[in-house]
Amino acid sequence: MIRLPPRVCNLIPLELIVRKWASPIPGSEEKLLRSVCLFASVARMGSARELAGKSSNQSLDEGEVSILYLGYSGVVVRTKSHAFAFDPADLVSGDAIAQLGKLDAVFYGHGHGDHFSKEHAALLSSKTGAYVAAEESLVPSLKSAIPSERLVPAKPGERKELKGFSVTPIAGIHRGPIVLFIVEAGGISIFHGGDSAYVPLGSFRADLALVPTGSPSPTASPRDAFRMVSDLKPKAAAAFHGSASQHREFLSLVKENLSQVNAFPLEEGRTVKVSVK
Ligand SMILES: [Zn+2]
Repeated sequence: MIRLPPRVCNLIPLELIVRKWASPIPGSEEKLLRSVCLFASVARMGSARELAGKSSNQSLDEGEVSILYLGYSGVVVRTKSHAFAFDPADLVSGDAIAQLGKLDAVFYGHGHGDHFSKEHAALLSSKTGAYVAAEESLVPSLKSAIPSERLVPAKPGERKELKGFSVTPIAGIHRGPIVLFIVEAGGISIFHGGDSAYVPLGSFRADLALVPTGSPSPTASPRDAFRMVSDLKPKAAAAFHGSASQHREFLSLVKENLSQVNAFPLEEGRTVKVSVK
């Protein structure tokens, strides 16, 4: 077993070591890298109780959101009135799901393993009653796992009104189909960029933009993330799905060109509270 320092998943050298180590076994690299990253993220996340305690809605004012970062593009975003999970893959343990409390919807932008798990979607939805809104090609496989009244196909351009919130899926660019999401609840608009390359977003608005800066996505980059934020002009922009240096590059682009945007990187297992109004 390799001994891992904290925050390894955003470090390219670790990825290289794992790839080299696993390379004699075809197809094993991604699995191994993923296990290593999950191990590291679980170690960092602390107890389920701590996780849930940090992410309740109760301490939020109107115009505030909290963001709990799970890893990759996985986040739980809360407003005063709602709670949403985006691309949680299998990054929340069964115990932690029970501690999450209220969850209005879970959004899945595409089917890659670091973003989506069918079994986990079923668990999240059955334990919390959340809607599951998923990119269309994932829907057939989810039909056996999610009750039809809670399963929402996310088609680009088709805005849907659900219980006190709306979702607008947007076609992104990735290997295979991907949708990005704009979710509006209680006057707050949240953008989730999955791990997509840039697509024009000038016709949308967001108060909070969650954007991927790169690794291990083949399509995301610091500049793509910066362009998304330039289009959306949010109050706050959180960087995920990228290496520490890619985050830094994105943050300096924002600082130089969009100084009014409060941009910051997310830290796995941590919850941050930000004002977005
Ligand atoms: Zn990814």
